[in-house]
Amino acid sequence: MTGLNLRLPSPLTEVRDGRLDAKGIRLYLKRDDLIHPEFPGNKWRKLKYNLNAATKVGHSRLLTFGGAYSNHVRAVAAAGKHFGFETIGVIRGEEHSPLNPSLGYAVDCGMALTYMDRETYRHKDDSDVIERLGTEFGRFYLIPEGGSNALALPGCAELIEEITVDFDVICCACGTGGTLAGIASALRRDQHAKGFAVLKGAGFLVDNVRELQEQAFGHSDDGWSIELGYHFGGYAKADQVLRLFIADFESRFGLKLDWIYEAKMMYGLMDLIDHDRFKAGTSIVALIS
Ligand SMILES: *Cc1c(COP(=O)(O)O)cnc(C)c1O
Repeated sequence: MTGLNLRLPSPLTEVRDGRLDAKGIRLYLKRDDLIHPEFPGNKWRKLKYNLNAATKVGHSRLLTFGGAYSNHVRAVAAAGKHFGFETIGVIRGEEHSPLNPSLGYAVDCGMALTYMDRETYRHKDDSDVIERLGTEFGRFYLIPEGGSNALALPGCAELIEEITVDFDVICCACGTGGTLAGIASALRRDQHAKGFAVLKGAGFLVDNVRELQEQAFGHSDDGWSIELGYHFGGYAKADQVLRLFIADFESRFGLKLDWIYEAKMMYGLMDLIDHDRFKAGTSIVALIS
């Protein structure tokens, strides 16, 4: 993959704070948000091996799914522009005009958008729905919603080797669980990956993560867990507590956390630290995607 100036390895910075010192915790931020402005978050890592695979089997067209604010749809559109793929975004729900900034950006990158009613969207992985899309758009390489498939995991796993400090726990926000599945697979036996679900009622994520690991590596591992209690009402929901946390974090550390994902993880992590869920001496990496 050339022609793109990616900041890899992404920077690792230590967070210094009296509350952490008091608990004997070391906290580092792995700044994946700085990899590239057009590939928000972990989306570059998840796409990398998918783009290689698409090229290898001679596909020139990528098709993917997402909500109207999907970071993943943006990233696929950007990948199409940079690497010369045609791209099709299948968007959940009705068309809204004017386009929101995410979809406007996708169209500017050359992505063709099509809209799918919510009922059909629920069955978007069924073969008859995929076949119909094939009739409409021609042959394509399919990337699932959120970019989380077997090929997404090795890309995420690579971030573990980039971390130059010894750590015990790595934390990430979970949408589909693909990132968690990937990073957990690269840990030593004595390390642990902790995901923070940003969706309400996300117990299904446990099966998702296990299944993705099985598809990618032929087996799953158990060096990970998911916190389900920090969703703040559900996907893209927030309240005053979360907003104040974001403002406080920014004033202390100069980093404005993304409220859909990273703020929920960081709030949850600080809460667990506060409640002595990690023993003194624990070294933690928080993934900022
Ligand atoms: C997509 C995304 C996530 C969630 O990743 P999953 O692999 O779907 O769990 C977390 N943070 C940010 C910023 C994202 O864009």
